[in-house]
Amino acid sequence: MSERTGAYDYDLLVIGSGPGGQKAAIAAAKLGKRVCVAERRHMMGGVCVNTGTIPSKTLREAVLYLTGFAQRDMYGASYRVKSEITISDLLARTQHVVGREVEVIRNQLMRNHVDLLGGTARFVDAHTVAVEGEARGDHNTVTAENIVIATGTRPARPAEVEFDADHVMDSDGVLDMKRVPGSMVVVGAGVIGIEYASMFAALGTRVTVVEKRPRMLEFCDPEVVESLKFHLRDQAVTFRFGEEVEKVEITPKGTVTSLASGKRIAADMVMYSAGRQGVTDELDLEKAGLQADRRGRISVDGRYRTSVPHIFAVGDVIGFPALAATSMDQGRLAAYHAFDEPVRELQELQPIGIYTVPEISYCGRTEEELTAGSVPYEVGVSRYRELARGAIVGDSYGMLKLLVSTQDRTLLGVHVFGSGATDLVHIGQAIMGCGGTVDYLVDTVLNYPTLSEAYKVAALDVTNKIRALEAFSG
Ligand SMILES: Cc1cc2nc3c(=O)[nH]c(=O)nc-3n(C[C@H](O)[C@H](O)[C@H](O)COP(=O)(O)OP(=O)(O)OC[C@H]3O[C@@H](n4cnc5c(N)ncnc54)[C@H](O)[C@@H]3O)c2cc1C
Repeated sequence: MSERTGAYDYDLLVIGSGPGGQKAAIAAAKLGKRVCVAERRHMMGGVCVNTGTIPSKTLREAVLYLTGFAQRDMYGASYRVKSEITISDLLARTQHVVGREVEVIRNQLMRNHVDLLGGTARFVDAHTVAVEGEARGDHNTVTAENIVIATGTRPARPAEVEFDADHVMDSDGVLDMKRVPGSMVVVGAGVIGIEYASMFAALGTRVTVVEKRPRMLEFCDPEVVESLKFHLRDQAVTFRFGEEVEKVEITPKGTVTSLASGKRIAADMVMYSAGRQGVTDELDLEKAGLQADRRGRISVDGRYRTSVPHIFAVGDVIGFPALAATSMDQGRLAAYHAFDEPVRELQELQPIGIYTVPEISYCGRTEEELTAGSVPYEVGVSRYRELARGAIVGDSYGMLKLLVSTQDRTLLGVHVFGSGATDLVHIGQAIMGCGGTVDYLVDTVLNYPTLSEAYKVAALDVTNKIRALEAFSG
């Protein structure tokens, strides 16, 4: 532990080492502050590294590689890199990547002289935190001038459903699966549910998605969501929208999920993806003068400050948008605010990436939002099958859509479906963030052959439509 030099042991204590906690700790350390991070010993890197973003995206990469899924347009539907894909084939890659990420984070914290306390933290008072390790006698109490709570979320589990490691699991349980299921029910078509549904479908699992709302991913472009649904149906995914699960029974052969409508679905496994709950129950928040809402979330102001001015909260524990990407910046900003460092706030324009197979990404507004706001716009579309790079990589379904103001030609939204979508979106984001117009894309030379060329094609498409409109209007 650092030598105690001030009234408190540390200038900043961070609870939780996920993206929010890490970046808060490192930003404060770079300001020359004495910093400590409290984290459970087996969770260095947080949910992001151990059970969330990193393992799920690595699993997806392993699925894509081993199934040869992305190459089937080229080599036929029976193309596989490995014919019998086992769960250990999939998880070996995940474990390798998670191990490396944990090391990188540990090293970054050490290089920046951030102390680590292994265990579960709880408040003793508003400046004092006790950290209890798993081993007997592994107990520390530390004081800090400022505290950042970055304790994240855990999967919410409906009380009426009995979970077990083999048959009924949440998204954490997927990483402990013992075999690739032949059939699976995914309850909840949110981002996590639908990402896993598409990964298992690509593996050849017969997936049924049950969602109580009438639509899925309703914040995305409906045309893109339709394309995704078309692809998933093509891989034997069944959608049950507007349906609620009444009970799940475990039988000697697998599971039977009963829906309120009377339907019953037999499957090897059930995966629940029914939202997430803030991890605040072990923090003894009331001892610090704080409280969480019924979903375990802590409220903060625009500077990530809680109702107790020297205690900040960042990341999933403060709710929307609950992304690793945003949590990192929130952590960095909270540390600057804690020490009154001048700082620029985050740009409002933020991308959304959904790592389904195929992937989706967008930035800016949707057609529905523009129509509801009576903002006149025109659409430019480019289909990957018309791009040389699309043909080379064997992506015949991808598309990029630009929404452009017919009043001043500014870019209002970009929606991408298919290979590289989550990377490609950033070109549109950069143009929009700088207030650029579609003309920038028309007048710019892009590498060829690339998927980025989709921007050029869509830009020409939309400018031609705008020109025709102007010509017709006289
Ligand atoms: C399956 C899945 C896929 C995802 N995919 C993506 C994606 O593709 N892109 C993206 O941007 N986001 C994704 N996310 C979301 C992303 O993982 C989270 O937004 C991010 O991890 C939140 O970071 P955080 O800083 O809030 O902390 P978290 O990563 O949630 O970590 C919180 C840490 O706090 C620790 N902690 C809790 N209580 C205590 C305590 N009392 N004492 C000590 N330590 C404590 C926990 O052990 C945990 O390690 C995904 C999430 C899941 C579940």
